[in-house]
Amino acid sequence: MSTEKFEFKTEVNQLLELVIHSLYSHREIFLRELISNASDALDKLRLAALQNKELLGTDTELRIKIFRDDKAGLLTITDNGIGMTRDELISNLGTIAHSGTKDFVERIKQAKDGPELIGQFGVGFYSAFMVADKVTVNSKTADGVAACWTSSGQGNFELANSAKSTRGTEISLHLKKEAKEYLNEYTIRQLIKKYSDYVDYPIYMDIERTETPKDQDGQPLAKAKPEQKIIEEKLNSQKALWTKNKSEVPPEEYEDFYKHITHGYDKPLEIIHYTAEGTSEFKALLYIPEHAPFDLFTKEHTLGLQLYIKRVFIMHDCQKLIPEYLRFLQGVVDSSDLPLNVSREILQEDAQLEKIKKNITKKILSVLKNLKEKEPEKYLKFYKEFGAALKEGLHYDYEHKEALADLLLFPTSGSEKYRSLEEYVKDMPRDQKDIYYLISETRGQALASPHLGALQAKKYEVLFLHDIIDEFVIPQLYEYRGKKLQAIDKADIDLGDKKESEAKLKEAAEKFGGLLSGLKTVLGSQVQDVRFSARLTDSPCCLAVDTGAMSPQMIKMFKSMGQEVPDQKKILELNPVHPLIQKLQHTAPEKLAGFAKLLYGQAVIAGGGKLDNPLDFAKQLNEVLLQTAG
Ligand code: ADP
Ligand code: MG
Repeated sequence: MSTEKFEFKTEVNQLLELVIHSLYSHREIFLRELISNASDALDKLRLAALQNKELLGTDTELRIKIFRDDKAGLLTITDNGIGMTRDELISNLGTIAHSGTKDFVERIKQAKDGPELIGQFGVGFYSAFMVADKVTVNSKTADGVAACWTSSGQGNFELANSAKSTRGTEISLHLKKEAKEYLNEYTIRQLIKKYSDYVDYPIYMDIERTETPKDQDGQPLAKAKPEQKIIEEKLNSQKALWTKNKSEVPPEEYEDFYKHITHGYDKPLEIIHYTAEGTSEFKALLYIPEHAPFDLFTKEHTLGLQLYIKRVFIMHDCQKLIPEYLRFLQGVVDSSDLPLNVSREILQEDAQLEKIKKNITKKILSVLKNLKEKEPEKYLKFYKEFGAALKEGLHYDYEHKEALADLLLFPTSGSEKYRSLEEYVKDMPRDQKDIYYLISETRGQALASPHLGALQAKKYEVLFLHDIIDEFVIPQLYEYRGKKLQAIDKADIDLGDKKESEAKLKEAAEKFGGLLSGLKTVLGSQVQDVRFSARLTDSPCCLAVDTGAMSPQMIKMFKSMGQEVPDQKKILELNPVHPLIQKLQHTAPEKLAGFAKLLYGQAVIAGGGKLDNPLDFAKQLNEVLLQTAG
């Protein structure tokens, strides 16, 4: 058969142009693509050989090999896989069989992040033309005749006879002048480590070494001249831990691999290794780290897992694999039903990734639930590091809200020990209807809260919340197992004896009406209202906010982010049975002004807020102290 010329199909030309021109900064991925094709070809052969052993012949070690020819500027990648017939060379390398590609090419052309996108999903064989001005493919199937495909990627290709006598495919790249770096031993090593370390077949390369000849005992011979030697070295570790069975992997290997992917030194707190089957097939090896990275709560944090497709590395930090609130996870997901090549329907990928994400989310939540039940101390360790991130899920993941609520832990007014909502509810006194919580920066602040007294008097436990995120997510939780969650510093809180206390308050308001209006006049626009409250026990007064209003913590946070916060008027609540309040009703109006400032100021401080004018407060306080001291 003589040499024949063929034109590329239009879409091939389009793809070629796109790849060559817009992917330049990602051109190193060509090696990943060719290795991945070789690996696919070996997979196919392995599978076929299960039916027909003769296919393997004497050539039984399935392998990939890289050759470098510096002088000729040739980089060659060979495999002894399934190989291609002449017709297959024409159809596989001359057309794009998949209809989705055209749309894809259009989309990439328009998208700003085009190169990123294709860089991540692989462009297949044609990526070779990013580094080569001529590509030759010699190929032979187990029982077929060899053929040779050649192209410079400029609209056409040629087919000729080939002298190749062994099974498999040999792809030679005549490297462009500016791509000679890919002949460099070190560069190739790095690329294989980066992209193909976990490919299931050995990837060999010939390495020149200068060695001094040795004697029988392996000692260098004294007078011998160093010799140039060529040794065949394996470049990849082939350690695709996640493809193995759990029972085959010793703990050290899990840990080594964790260190490898995190580039860190700590140990994982928990290892989750499983295979998903059914609507979505993938293997996952996931780790929960021992410690939260410092940037877990900043925008800089990179989230996501490594995505592999059939053991071929696709991308780091694949955000679509996990919800943001599980961003502490590290590890690898290896899908067997995602298309590696853009020439398949790229649109499908989103749906596939979504399925994987669903599966992983469910899995992790169940792992955490288990951990909480079976190894509470370990779980607590996890929770202290990552609980705040997990809480974000209460807001973003409605579907798993209940599962997430079950994972929450809180210290309480009763003890610093963390308790779950379930435990809290179980221990509620019979007359307690709701779940009570208090958000504050520290435990000390919570314990000093004037709102706490009334609940403690009734032996109601209060959950103490100290994470910044609590303010946003806990109110959204709304209820747990039919029990409402109530912030104890909100104005309309009802401790179950509303009627009784309302009557008392009405009476107090009638009796001390003058005091209320006096204080209101003095405090003016600083407060929304001054009223009596039944929930205070030891303290004379406190500030309450209307339901739905922002807490001092929230205001502080917004202000620290440089955001404008609308003025939030507070309600000054007075304790009608406190001796100070009782005495104040007899205070002369001209003296009341000073007292009002002090009452308001102490309520602000006790609530964890900041005084607008601390100096004024101190001055007022000193005046009173002076009088008492005298
Ligand atoms: P994909 O790998 O996604 O199918 P590529 O552009 O990478 O797309 O490759 C196109 C086709 O060429 C492959 O599907 C395969 O049939 C064939 N091919 C490429 N490289 C090899 C190889 N080393 N051995 C056998 N077939 C190959
Ligand atoms: Mg491919």
